[in-house]
Amino acid sequence: MKFVLVTGGVVSGLGKGVTASSVGVVLKACGLRVTSIKIDPYLNTDAGTMSPFEHGEVFVLDDGGEVDLDLGNYERFLDVTLTRDNNITTGKIYQSVLEKERRGNYLGKTVQVVPHITDAIKNWIESVAAIPVDGKEGPADVCVIELGGTVGDIESMPFIEALRQLSFSVGQDNFCLIHVSLIPVLGVVGEQKTKPTQHSVRELRALGLTPHLLACRSAQPLLANTKEKLSQFCHVPIANILNIHDVPNIWHIPLLLRSQNAHHSILQQLNLLSIAAPSDLQAWTKMAETYDNITNSVRIAMVGKYVGLTDSYLSVVKALLHACIACSLKPSIDWIAASDLEDDSANLTPEAHAAAWETLRNAECVLVPGGFGDRGVKGMILAAKYARENNVPYLGICLGMQISVIEFARSVLGLERANSSEFDTESPDNVVIFMPEGSRTHMGSTMRLGSRKTIFQTHDCLSSKLYCNPKYVDERHRHRYEVNPEVIGALEEAGLKFVGKDETGKRMEILELPGHPYYVGSQFHPEFKSRPGRPSPMFLGLILAATKQLEAYLNTHQNGS
Ligand code: GLN
Repeated sequence: MKFVLVTGGVVSGLGKGVTASSVGVVLKACGLRVTSIKIDPYLNTDAGTMSPFEHGEVFVLDDGGEVDLDLGNYERFLDVTLTRDNNITTGKIYQSVLEKERRGNYLGKTVQVVPHITDAIKNWIESVAAIPVDGKEGPADVCVIELGGTVGDIESMPFIEALRQLSFSVGQDNFCLIHVSLIPVLGVVGEQKTKPTQHSVRELRALGLTPHLLACRSAQPLLANTKEKLSQFCHVPIANILNIHDVPNIWHIPLLLRSQNAHHSILQQLNLLSIAAPSDLQAWTKMAETYDNITNSVRIAMVGKYVGLTDSYLSVVKALLHACIACSLKPSIDWIAASDLEDDSANLTPEAHAAAWETLRNAECVLVPGGFGDRGVKGMILAAKYARENNVPYLGICLGMQISVIEFARSVLGLERANSSEFDTESPDNVVIFMPEGSRTHMGSTMRLGSRKTIFQTHDCLSSKLYCNPKYVDERHRHRYEVNPEVIGALEEAGLKFVGKDETGKRMEILELPGHPYYVGSQFHPEFKSRPGRPSPMFLGLILAATKQLEAYLNTHQNGS
């Protein structure tokens, strides 16, 4: 196994994740099989308990792992399926070491950061790197490891030390370190400053790691003399100084790396030149260029709770992008804070209320994504009602589906107190209830997480046709509440159809409203499996309906072709 380690210096938020994924793409384009590991030095065991306000979206894997959103980037860029163990955190490492200690496995020894924590990190990396993630058998050729945070952070010290030991034990030919750094421009003369990079490389070297390549982020392309300076002071050959300047969209990054022969430098370091194929990034080039040339857009109203930080819904945004590109459109997403739509806001913040409604009315389709807690729920219900009554295409994901059930029960069944027991534990008319998969009294997590089957109840519905009429689909879940099985009869009689259910038939997975251009809800999160070039059918349906192309599309694609 060969390792490419990607570290970051100077500041966080340099796009290290995208750089690491792009390195993976460039290597994959040379015919190599690539896997990846993301290290998050925080103490949380996983991202499941972290607020999307603070940390962006919690990405969900097939195995139910709740992980950092960078793993989503890896899955989308490399078209792989990762496991929860591909995301290492300090919490997970300490938990495993402490469990071993309690079992007495350290035979009376003093348990220490070095060697016990560092050994656990090394073993974890080596065993996870060997798990195939691309559907083929046997381990990948290269494992790209991204170390979160910035070199010098206290939290990342044990990881740096473990990675230093790893580089030594696997040997020169099997280890390549790429350090991502920032080249700021200061002052009126606009000089590109190399000093912060010099300092962070020095810090890395003091910890025993030497970068083989530098990936320098900058607004404008690097000047020749900036590169010379970097080479001289950072001890990195000029050919290995890569420049990632601002580009129109992130799909250009692998192309940018290839144009600077990054693949050659990495393959040379890893002694893989003899087995690598000539780099083929045709599909990637086409995708990046197609996107640049799209002129028309579609207005999508995204009505949610965490609209301040767009990373909170990163995979939803990406899934919209994939679907739009398939329709030769650019997504124009209008973020609406659900609470601004509520009646209370008309009195408290009338301007925000008017603006939110104006935005909603101007949208060609409405999306209510997943969420937890009751903030904004009233506003989401108003958005679902608006979309249902005005024939505006609507996609409700997880909470968004539950919202549409509550709205329908209130407006059509006349159950004024219809709600979810997440928001009202007292209501006699709850149409969404707590239905854990395991025991109700079980102390551990009660969340239904990861890939589960949705069985289509009929092929005579939009979602089945969009998925090309399979018997079932596997999609990822992250929820506790479900549509109340006792109200299904009444809801269906009144016109809301549950066209996808789980294997027991008790859990509702997909709802549709026949007669409406596109009123669809899914209990699962289709956004997590959307890929560039292979958009999620649920999102594709929304965009096709928003631009009135759905019927024509289904007529030509109905037979699974
Ligand atoms: N809060 C809801 C539940 O737990 C929806 C979760 C979600 O949207 N991911 O069921």
